[in-house]
Amino acid sequence: MADYPRGLSAFSLEGKRALVTGGNRGLGYAFARALADSGATVAFVGRGAEANEAAVRRLKAEGIDAYGIGADLTADDEADRAVDQAAERLGGLDIVVNNAGVCFHNPAWDATDDEWQQVFDLNVRAVWKVSLAAGRHLRDNGGGAIVNIGSISGLIVNRPQAQAPYNASKAAVHQLTKSLAAEWAPHHIRVNAVAPGYVKTEMAPVDRPEYRRMWIEDAPQQRYATPEEIAPSIVYLCSPAAAFVTGSVLVIDGGYTVY
Ligand code: NDP
Repeated sequence: MADYPRGLSAFSLEGKRALVTGGNRGLGYAFARALADSGATVAFVGRGAEANEAAVRRLKAEGIDAYGIGADLTADDEADRAVDQAAERLGGLDIVVNNAGVCFHNPAWDATDDEWQQVFDLNVRAVWKVSLAAGRHLRDNGGGAIVNIGSISGLIVNRPQAQAPYNASKAAVHQLTKSLAAEWAPHHIRVNAVAPGYVKTEMAPVDRPEYRRMWIEDAPQQRYATPEEIAPSIVYLCSPAAAFVTGSVLVIDGGYTVY
């Protein structure tokens, strides 16, 4: 173990090349910034050209040169193109964070086929397509790390809002994570998931009074998280410090799922 990195150097991502999906806002933005702050060069994907440019500018103002890629990951060819563009721009890939996701609140009786399709196309199929396309780069480079963003919704059923397709999609993310971890361990590719609780972003209206009782007061820590509080766990899972961690689902929820 003489060459094992000691202390905080075990968490360094110096020289690593990372792709984050859904990196122009919310959790993905915080992940892109944290990976860059830890030494990685970073590319991110989002659909909105303006949102991507704004995120590149914001990161630049924080001393980070990131590369924004415009792509709708629910289109298979765009997912492939985005991965290849990132690999070409960064000179290869070592890290992939499958973060882009979508959620609709609707009782099952009222959920439309289109909502189901959008949720599964992005939350599950895009994770699959990006992982396969990027996994080939990782394999050819001798290994790497993939982190998929699951959710406590893959473990429990949220209240009071109904969101059955989303909950099912996040359970699928957790199981896809374990399946790829098993298959790709021989290629030195580690695949893990993070399952956040409630985090303040555009997706989660954590400040709305009607959600306070069950989203906030039901959690042992009695609060929601900021994206910056989830980001260090992504760095950890991508770093040499997590060399023996694969197929894990790391729950980060202020204790929400203990009850
Ligand atoms: P946001 O809605 O704030 O951000 C979603 C990101 O994904 C944006 O950058 C968006 O950019 C991008 N995106 C959306 N659709 C597509 C698409 N078709 N192709 C490419 N990019 C796309 O979400 P959060 O930051 O809250 O969530 C991020 C992840 O974390 C999701 O997987 C979510 O399920 C998960 N999560 C969130 C929790 C929370 O409380 N916020 C809790 C648990 C899990 P653009 O619109 O420009 O494409």
